[in-house]
Amino acid sequence: MRGRFTILGTSSAIPTKERNHPAVYFQWGGEAFLFDCGEGTQRQIQIAELSFYKIDKIFVTHLHGDHVLGLPGLLQTLDFHDKDYVEIYGTPGIGELVELSTTRCFYINTEDLKVAVREIPPTEEVYTVLETDTYRVLSIGLNHTVDCIGYAFEEREKFKYDRQKVKRLGLKAHHFKELKERGYTTLDGKRIEKHQLGKFKRGFKFVYITDTYYTENIFKLAEGADYLILECTYFDEDEYAEAVKHLSFNIFRTRIYPKLLGLGVKNVILTHFSRRYKDLSKFEEAIREHKMENVYLARDLMGFEF
Ligand SMILES: [Zn+2]
Ligand SMILES: [Zn+2]
Repeated sequence: MRGRFTILGTSSAIPTKERNHPAVYFQWGGEAFLFDCGEGTQRQIQIAELSFYKIDKIFVTHLHGDHVLGLPGLLQTLDFHDKDYVEIYGTPGIGELVELSTTRCFYINTEDLKVAVREIPPTEEVYTVLETDTYRVLSIGLNHTVDCIGYAFEEREKFKYDRQKVKRLGLKAHHFKELKERGYTTLDGKRIEKHQLGKFKRGFKFVYITDTYYTENIFKLAEGADYLILECTYFDEDEYAEAVKHLSFNIFRTRIYPKLLGLGVKNVILTHFSRRYKDLSKFEEAIREHKMENVYLARDLMGFEF
């Protein structure tokens, strides 16, 4: 297992007894991120037996209450836990919200808990939010009633040596050092390029898209995803979904899913359901009927390992 993510909430707008406001707890390589932080996220984190303290970065999609109302409380808890640093990314206005939620309202000591905030523009092309040696986080603007962005976590591609080739040539440690540093090495006076000895393997990709109506930007961000979490607020109320800038299962099935398959998206997890659906049986039946084998319906506290 390289990582894991846990879906903490699956309700749109108003939480229900069964469904909490949205948040996803994402763990990879010793780090933990939170995507969105709706009301009740703190309790869900505890029920899922996850750690507050490990949260290093919080990525907020937009400033509608269902996605951010848990943030002030979580910041207070991080302060209580003597956490000294957290990064928050979000659409323009997130800085003001964090300021309100710390120094201006709740007396959270930002000397003890340093909060670094970055406002991300809702772009029409994929935008790099941050890059490290091992992963990058990307974003793109969505089609919602307010500024809204989707996020992708992408493990950097890795070079895989062709073992047989390496063995045949008898490469030694100093050759690998040169290949790493310079991209080539020499053997018996002959220059060997790194790409001749293997190939790059695409890394793991996780994509989180909510809230949005249909937009081509979904595909730009989701291409090649191992897991795509996608909003699906309504079932077949297509006109209403368009008016309030959300997706319906019907729009997903007819206009989005076929394209995702063509883009190599492996698994789709639908979430952000309206409270008008007491249960999700209609969605379940439709998935079965149309044989959408890699489509899942998110439930609160559902975890996926990868
Ligand atoms: Zn929402
Ligand atoms: Zn919204």
